[in-house]
Amino acid sequence: MTTALAQGKINLVFQVGALSNGYHEVRSIYQAIELSEQVTVSEAESWQVVVSGQVPNLELVPRDESNIVVRAAKALALHAGISNPQPMRFEIQKQIPVAGGMAGGSADAAAALMALNEHWCLGLDAARLATVGASIGADVPFALLGGTALGTGTGSELQVLTPVQTMHVLLVFSNFPLSTKDVFTRFDELSPDGDALDQDLQAGYLKLLGSNSLEPAALSLRPELKKIMDLDLGIPGGFLSGSGPTVWFASHDAQAAEAAQNQANAMGLQTVLTKTSNLGARLG
Ligand code: ATP
Repeated sequence: MTTALAQGKINLVFQVGALSNGYHEVRSIYQAIELSEQVTVSEAESWQVVVSGQVPNLELVPRDESNIVVRAAKALALHAGISNPQPMRFEIQKQIPVAGGMAGGSADAAAALMALNEHWCLGLDAARLATVGASIGADVPFALLGGTALGTGTGSELQVLTPVQTMHVLLVFSNFPLSTKDVFTRFDELSPDGDALDQDLQAGYLKLLGSNSLEPAALSLRPELKKIMDLDLGIPGGFLSGSGPTVWFASHDAQAAEAAQNQANAMGLQTVLTKTSNLGARLG
């Protein structure tokens, strides 16, 4: 049995261009956070997925072969030239809300790739794992890499950036899921030409902190998000993470972040206080 971990993410900045050939070109500043997913793999007679954790929408995680960890395993086997891979059991411990815009599924895929690379003694290096990851989902290469990075192309072409000074990140969850696909479809309806992409985003992204092309689309699908985004919690924020619905606030000041959390909790909101992380996927 082998265990690996991978972090969740927020997007410090998320710019989305027009749909072209079935893909949106994006410019994203990804930031890993301390919330992580843990995946343990072991041999089994058939593909099995067991999921645990206290996170919103856990029931949406598929327990069959459509789970992203099984798709990751099959893609890895294919890449390594294994035609009949050994079926595996995956135990996923989730800390990242499901369908929350924080790449929980992508973190599971990254952890599964790390664990299986070790368990099957494949010896693939980071670049090859990232290639397999990109074939599964645009956010998987970042879930492997972690830290702070600029993502271009579909988000899977990464450039490592200097780590940000540790920020305390307050996440405000919503109990309703938002499907990434639905948000992008609404984005295309609202912005057929896409948003302008900053060709030199890494140079000055802190000035754009929190800007997200998908915000109008997410708000159009879930107008009730506006109340959370407009909250005055005494620290900067009210920003959408990825395609939402998770909204984040951040501060370098731990006490101010804690006070913001107490204020949000007193309003009956579901929150988690975490920190930015410099870690990527790793064996546990
Ligand atoms: P992203 O930010 O990458 O767009 P997300 O964080 O909003 O993604 P996920 O939690 O990755 O969303 O889940 C999106 C959908 O993927 C779920 O609704 C579920 O149907 C499917 N899914 C498949 N495997 C998993 C998994 N291991 N964990 C979570 N969802 C999974």
